[in-house]
Amino acid sequence: MVSSSLDIDLDKIRYNAAQVKQMCQQQGIAVLGVTKGFSAIPEIVSAMLAGGVDGLADARMENIVELRNVGFDQPITLLRIPRLSNVKNVVRYATISVNSEITVIKALAEEAKKLHTQHQVVLMIDVGDLREGVMEEHVLETVNQISHLQGVKLLGLGTNMGCFGGVLPSIDNLGRLVELGNSIQNQLGIQLEIISGGGTSTLSLVEDQKVPAGVNQLRIGEGILLGTDSTNQRRIPWLCDDAFLLRAEVIELKDKPSVPIGDIGRDAFGKVPQFTDVGVRKRAILALGKQDVIIEGIIPVDENLKILGASSDHLIIDVTDSSTNIQVGDSVSFRLTYSGILSASQSRYISKKFRGG
Ligand SMILES: *Cc1c(COP(=O)(O)O)cnc(C)c1O
Repeated sequence: MVSSSLDIDLDKIRYNAAQVKQMCQQQGIAVLGVTKGFSAIPEIVSAMLAGGVDGLADARMENIVELRNVGFDQPITLLRIPRLSNVKNVVRYATISVNSEITVIKALAEEAKKLHTQHQVVLMIDVGDLREGVMEEHVLETVNQISHLQGVKLLGLGTNMGCFGGVLPSIDNLGRLVELGNSIQNQLGIQLEIISGGGTSTLSLVEDQKVPAGVNQLRIGEGILLGTDSTNQRRIPWLCDDAFLLRAEVIELKDKPSVPIGDIGRDAFGKVPQFTDVGVRKRAILALGKQDVIIEGIIPVDENLKILGASSDHLIIDVTDSSTNIQVGDSVSFRLTYSGILSASQSRYISKKFRGG
């Protein structure tokens, strides 16, 4: 049986990681390879490491525990601020965590003391994107509180942009982050090791050599995986954009009208579907559906194919203008966006096939 597959070119992942690492290193910036986009599949993690990333980072404790269980002993940063209810695992398995709540940082410190260890904390600062982070005016007071805790060490400051508010990294907002680091040094006498200036969306500043001096770490997922930067809506020209391909098999191929026949109710997801009449078209059904992948996150490699829609288990595409003569049993290939990889990497119905590595 041939199931739908996610084909992963490990050489391309390694190449992308090496390219990002090289460009950042020249400007004194370390790179964390972010593994949450592909649910930390170990083969892909190894390819990132082979490309030379300085450490790993993931948003999910489940992924970090799994990475430790299969033997990865590199420093791993937890990227989603920890749950108060889960500090024990955070201290056990993650080397570093990003944080914004003093209550949680205190609990991490308590837990670390019990284990006779020290947990490292990056304090997240909200410079405007309005996802996680301490507001700038409260940073000194929070750092002061952290400095009195045994059990945790304040490694540095970090910020996240693009993900919620769509705020772009800039000389101004990253400069403010560096300034805050300077104030902490001058006013509290605390030397920070890390100023972590965001993810893939900061790479355009790296390219233009405009990252403010002092920013010395980035956390890169999307760029290494896809060679794209959604926040800045661009392809990154010096990275591969086809390390991942999704393939699904044609299970029906027929000429059908473009408008359904009969009274229209709701589709399987409660929406009233809309159709335009473009006459009879050749349609293929693929063995792939919403249960496997976020349909908006896949793009046919053949630009002449058009996705018409999907239900849980069926993807319907218009193949009338296909550049090849598609038959039942053939497979059709798709590129993926971030949401496409995020979902497809987790589907247990999609087999993962690796090339290279
Ligand atoms: C997901 C995430 C990243 C990685 O972002 P990319 O855009 O995929 O590079 C970096 N930092 C944090 C806090 C994240 O949650």
